[in-house]
Amino acid sequence: MRIEQLPSDFKKALPVLEEIEKAGFEAYFVGGSVRDHILGLSIHDVDIATSAYPEEIKTIFKRTVDTGIQHGTVTVLFNEDSYEITTFRTESGYQDFRRPDSVTFVRSLEDDLKRRDFTINALAVDRNGDVIDKFDGLTDLNKRVIRAVGKAEERFHEDALRMMRAVRFQSQLDFTVEEQTAKAIKDNAHLLEKIAVERIREEFIKLMLGRAWQIGFADFLKLDLSEYCPSFKGQRNNLEKLLDLDNELFVDEEAAWTAIGYVMNLEPNQFNKMLRNWKVSNKSRETSVATDKMIRHFKDGNFDVWDIYRLGVDNFDRVKSLCRLFDIEFDDANLTQKVVNIPIKSSRDLAITGNDIIKILGIKPGPKIGNYMSDIEHKVVEGTVYNNFDKLKEYLLSK
Ligand code: ATP
Ligand code: MG
Repeated sequence: MRIEQLPSDFKKALPVLEEIEKAGFEAYFVGGSVRDHILGLSIHDVDIATSAYPEEIKTIFKRTVDTGIQHGTVTVLFNEDSYEITTFRTESGYQDFRRPDSVTFVRSLEDDLKRRDFTINALAVDRNGDVIDKFDGLTDLNKRVIRAVGKAEERFHEDALRMMRAVRFQSQLDFTVEEQTAKAIKDNAHLLEKIAVERIREEFIKLMLGRAWQIGFADFLKLDLSEYCPSFKGQRNNLEKLLDLDNELFVDEEAAWTAIGYVMNLEPNQFNKMLRNWKVSNKSRETSVATDKMIRHFKDGNFDVWDIYRLGVDNFDRVKSLCRLFDIEFDDANLTQKVVNIPIKSSRDLAITGNDIIKILGIKPGPKIGNYMSDIEHKVVEGTVYNNFDKLKEYLLSK
């Protein structure tokens, strides 16, 4: 197959390939960008694979960064763009199911493609647009299947994270996992325990935010991967409830976590613990816990303007979409009106500052000021005092 019209991102990178070839080496576009372009999807990060060693790449280009030089990756800054250029390599060892004991640089493209996870990720494109397809990746792209390169079982023994990557690509691309590959996942799901939580989480979030997340999530459960993820052991029946919902996309990571906590019927502190087990960032964890609380409020019909204000406009959309997903009544018009009517977005919008309070009341700086500010914030949000300096001053003096 030849790609007649290279997409602009590849065209922009052509001089990079040409420079490498001029120096006597081979260079190709590889990985996700090739796959996504052939599927007609938009591409991000153009990755390049080359027969040149990292030191050789560094002599060809002026501006380079040693991103992962021990694995053979050098970032080349070229015009306004940057490209990850990785030397063809093979991997061996993998005694711990997660990283190769040694990486060997090689001069053969085929050897490099062989170590890649799935056939659809093992395609390369040369300067002329010719696709190099050693493992029938194009057929699999056509059939929309995810198939391991070589023996699936061996490939998952080498790196167990690939099993999570399979269901993640399934979700992002709306593909199915080929039978042998699926069987190998089910047989080896327990190896996921060897993988760092952070790496599993990264793939899992991509799965949850994918356009066909229910398809990827269904296999994540069916192939037993969930059993070896933090806090998910024995939760299959609960987690399956997500598959009965409308296929609505999650607006962000926090929406996905909240939905998971909801079907697992977790109390706020248990939910918080689950997110800690997954090593979710503090910010995402706090936002998820707050979102969860709001959903409970809505479910019980128990919330006031202050709750809505604390939730903030950004979170409002997330709560709204989750309520729709779980059939929780959410009086959009009424609530939107309430949000619009709240005169401030945060305490920074108050028409008075801590210093003003010190002056007006003639008191010394201290924690008391914070109490006054918080009281004023409540009053303004609830609409009992206007957010206007004179009115706030009057209110303060009347207390
Ligand atoms: P994305 O669009 O998410 O970036 P991608 O296919 O580019 O998808 P990356 O994680 O960026 O995925 O990896 C780039 C390429 O490196 C993959 O297409 C694949 O060929 C190879 N690769 C990445 N991770 C692995 C792995 N764990 N095992 C084998 N090959 C891998
Ligand atoms: Mg990529």
